[in-house]
This record gives sequence, C-alpha cells and structure tokens, in this order.
Amino acid sequence: MLVDAHCHLTGTYLAEDQVEDTLARARAEGVTGFIAVGTDLEDSRTVLELARRLPGVQASLGVHPHEAKTWSQDTGAALAALALDPAVRFVGETGLDWHYDLSPRDEQEAVFRAQIRLARTLRKPLMIHTRSAPEATLSILEEEGADAVRGIIHCFSEDRPFAQRALDLGFYLSFSGIATFKKAEAVRDVAAWAPADRILVETDAPFLAPVPYRGKPNEPGFVRFTAEAVAGLRGISSLKLAELTTRNLEALCGWAPSS
Ligand SMILES: [Zn+2]
Repeated sequence: MLVDAHCHLTGTYLAEDQVEDTLARARAEGVTGFIAVGTDLEDSRTVLELARRLPGVQASLGVHPHEAKTWSQDTGAALAALALDPAVRFVGETGLDWHYDLSPRDEQEAVFRAQIRLARTLRKPLMIHTRSAPEATLSILEEEGADAVRGIIHCFSEDRPFAQRALDLGFYLSFSGIATFKKAEAVRDVAAWAPADRILVETDAPFLAPVPYRGKPNEPGFVRFTAEAVAGLRGISSLKLAELTTRNLEALCGWAPSS
C-alpha cells in the first residue's frame, strides 16, 4: 500500500476519460490512496466530485497562488461549504509562487492568509505550495498560527534550514520526483535526514515525473519510483517507506486507504 499525497486528476490536467485507467495502473503498482488537489474554486468542485466517486481518492480544496487573482469575497465561504463533505481532507493548494508570479504578490499573500484562517476554522491541515519565496512563506505560516492546523509542504524543494522551521511548525515534508534527480542534492539531503514520522511522497502529476520517466507526463503510479529513491536515501526498504508514509498521512489528516 502506497499513497500519493498530492496529484491533479481533473480535466484541466488529465483527460476525463483517462482518470479511471490511470488510477487502475497506479493500483496495479500498489498505489491505493490519492490526495487529489484543486487549484481554484471550479477545479476544487470537480476534485470533490472525483473524490466522492472514485475509491481511494480524497480531496484537497483551495486556490493555488497562480490563481490568487480569481479569489473573490465569496470564495472562502464556497470552499467552506464544500469542505463539509468528509472526503475533504486538506485546504489548498495554497501558498506563494514568486518564480512565475502569475498573480500579483500582494494578492497571493492575502489569499494565502485567508486560506490559513479557513483551515484553522475548519480544523483541516494545509496543502502548501511554495516556490522562490521561502522566507515569506514561513513568516506567514508563523504569523497566522499555522502550527494550530499543520499541513504538508508539498513538492519539497528547499533546504535543511527551511525544513527545520517547517518541522517546528508541525508540518510534514512531501517529496516528489525531484528526489530522484541526482543533481537535487539539497532535497535529497533533506529526504535522507528528515524525521521518519514527518515524511510523505507524492507525484504532483501530471508534472515533475520521476526518473526513469523524467520529462514525460507524470501519473500517480509513478510515485513508486520516488518512494524507492527516498527509501534508498534513508537505507530502508520500499515496503517500510510505504508503510510509514501511509501512517504519516493518516496521522495528519485522519485518513488511510482501506486496502
Ligand atoms: Zn500541485
């Protein structure tokens, strides 16, 4: 049993008629749990529909920093209403992306703060996206009291000092295909060093396929390769890594796949 802690399965990212075959391939690889992540309100609605319909799929609903400009006064209330469904396990993905800057930075920050408060109100953990904004991301999490809800630093791509501050806030570190890239030394260092009870693995499908599929469209079944790489870095078996990451996800969000 292995869980993909962050993937995108809606029509924006994967052809609708491919979802069930894609998940069947993943199950054949032993991947039985999937956290499907929404990137704006409309996408979040679709993610929740998938989570209701497909076995082993649970939802993370929120507005990605790229889409912060789509946030309106009603968005928070709409997300809160959707989050009444027990299949909703996380708020996000939310955070800051100062690499692409697809939404203005002040809007990204306001929408990030709004979703941290929403997570606190809903008592659900956060799904955090952070790129090229490490100090601002951590400062905002600290200022907004995110230690009260905790969450996942998804697609971890920072270094040990960042990881330590995130761990101190109670956050979990989720490793993606980047952990299979030989040149990603800082990420591989953290994957080897981080506490066993705070690590997760994910695909971020359809992005960032691990070696040996690097550069190709990613899919949840490929989380196996990331799990093998992280297990190798830590000197444990892939089976052990699968067990502990599944247990960690359950400790954080209260859910594990049934088989
Ligand atoms: Zn994502």
